Amino acid sequence: MLKNNTFRILSISVILCVVYTLWISTLNPVQIASLKIIDSFFYLSSKFNPLPKTGQDIVLVSVDDSSLREVNIRWPWPRSTIADIINKISANGPAAICVDLVFAGKSVDPKEDSVLMNSLKSGGNVYAAAFFGSDGKYVVPDEALALSLKDFGFVNKPRDIDNTIRRMRPYFLSQSGGIIDYSLSLKVAGGVTNNTPASIGVSVPLSKDGATYIKFFGSLDKFNSIPAWKVLKGAADLSTLKNKLVFFGVTSESFHDTYHTPLGIMPGTVIDINETLTYINRSFFRYASHEVNSIILFIFVLIAVFGSLRLSILSGIALTACEILILLSLGLVLFLKGIIIDPIGPILLMVASTVLLHGARYVVLIVENMVLRKEAVTDGLTGLYLHRYFELQLKRELKSASHIRKNLALVIYDIDHFKKINDTYGHEFGNIVLKAIAKSLRDHSRKNNIIARYGGEEFCIIIPGMKRDHAIKYAERLRSLISHMEFKTDKGDSIRVTMSAGIVTIEDMVSPDHTSFIKAADSALYGSKNAGRDRITVFTSLRCQPPPTFSTASG
Ligand code: GH3
Ligand code: MG
Ligand code: MG
Repeated sequence: MLKNNTFRILSISVILCVVYTLWISTLNPVQIASLKIIDSFFYLSSKFNPLPKTGQDIVLVSVDDSSLREVNIRWPWPRSTIADIINKISANGPAAICVDLVFAGKSVDPKEDSVLMNSLKSGGNVYAAAFFGSDGKYVVPDEALALSLKDFGFVNKPRDIDNTIRRMRPYFLSQSGGIIDYSLSLKVAGGVTNNTPASIGVSVPLSKDGATYIKFFGSLDKFNSIPAWKVLKGAADLSTLKNKLVFFGVTSESFHDTYHTPLGIMPGTVIDINETLTYINRSFFRYASHEVNSIILFIFVLIAVFGSLRLSILSGIALTACEILILLSLGLVLFLKGIIIDPIGPILLMVASTVLLHGARYVVLIVENMVLRKEAVTDGLTGLYLHRYFELQLKRELKSASHIRKNLALVIYDIDHFKKINDTYGHEFGNIVLKAIAKSLRDHSRKNNIIARYGGEEFCIIIPGMKRDHAIKYAERLRSLISHMEFKTDKGDSIRVTMSAGIVTIEDMVSPDHTSFIKAADSALYGSKNAGRDRITVFTSLRCQPPPTFSTASG
């Protein structure tokens, strides 16, 4: 028994894990849900972890809404204005300046370019952005400007299936496998930490598509920032920029350079800052291996399946809830250590196994209960209700009928000389007759009639809601119907069986409690027997009477 159960738990768990791995895990909604859980880990870790020292050493000079207003020149600002800002930053000795703008092509006015060139040159540590266009072409700064820069790098980042940026590429490879270029963030990080891009790039754990998670330290409000107009107009104390890594980029939403990230919508520049910090701190994430994920999946599912098969519904649900909490805590702890596991698989399977297995148990229980209840109230031979149930129903119907002032009739049928039939043709034949009569009564009665086997060869029918005269006619019709049935005996004879009946209706009762109601029907039945059987007698408050509208003579 125990062995059997263990086998069941094991095999259900294995099947669930295989179905998940081969099919469910590949579905988009499941992958998105998995990413959202990882996002919540990002949110929690950025919420409760202060910005590291390296993050406090970053200042963002931002072209925000106030700058667009105060500078009052249409974007894109002339290169001389950009140069002015760069000069003012450079004058305060920053560690490096990362201009998150692409200086592609030449200006209409060549003077603009030479002013910018001079400012880039004199800064000596200015980086600028480049990008791979949608056609795959690498859009880089104009050559003359590029030569004045410390370096440039691409700012493209892959988007996940929910259009969210979570990951970064340290470099792009050409078809032949050579490195085309490194990302801007990687180059800047290399510059401020005295490392070559290659030496950092090589230490990045990459997934198959050449990307890895950005560690999101914070959103815009977590970083030091100065609006660009204040730099331009000398309205801010720029001495704070000394030895800082200064990012210069756009944050106003009007540039449409904002993206979904685990920490919400964020300007591209702030994503670049987080990316650069990831490289500077070398806080890279690693995916747990497939094997580790599978083991976690299997253990958690196994426990949930065990709970669903062996524990009560409440305990099983509590166990699964505990497991989910433990799994999420484990996921968060591993996340803080830089390891990402797949939490959605175990959660989905634990919930599914709890719902399905408990659900199945519940359905089986309900069906078993229904069968048991039916067996408890019905007679095995005829399938009609038993005496106890009949009395209960009669009580209920009497109460309801007197409440809503509707009629209620009760008929008791008793087979005539049934003992003789048994004695002549055998008990088995008697049973066949009982079954056939029961079936016929059932087939010809209405839905709301309650038919019971009252004694050995007595049947009762409760007829609710039918007018007195109709109920009497109806009871008579059933009696007559049975008397015309023919039964073939083993001996080849064909015999008929008659029944006597007594009927009482609620209108004829002084006190309609169920025992006096039955007694009344019984005494009417007794009247039929005394009057020669094969007939129906109506109980009235005065005496038992034959029904007025049809013959009661024996058939
Ligand atoms: P009457 O009612 O017309 O006065 O005569 P009766 O012969 O039907 O009367 P009685 O109530 O004395 O006999 C009922 C018989 O019904 C006795 C019993 O053998 C038979 N009987 C009761 N239950 C069953 C049953 O489940 N199967 C069979 N075959 N016979 C049964
Ligand atoms: Mg009897
Ligand atoms: Mg009888």
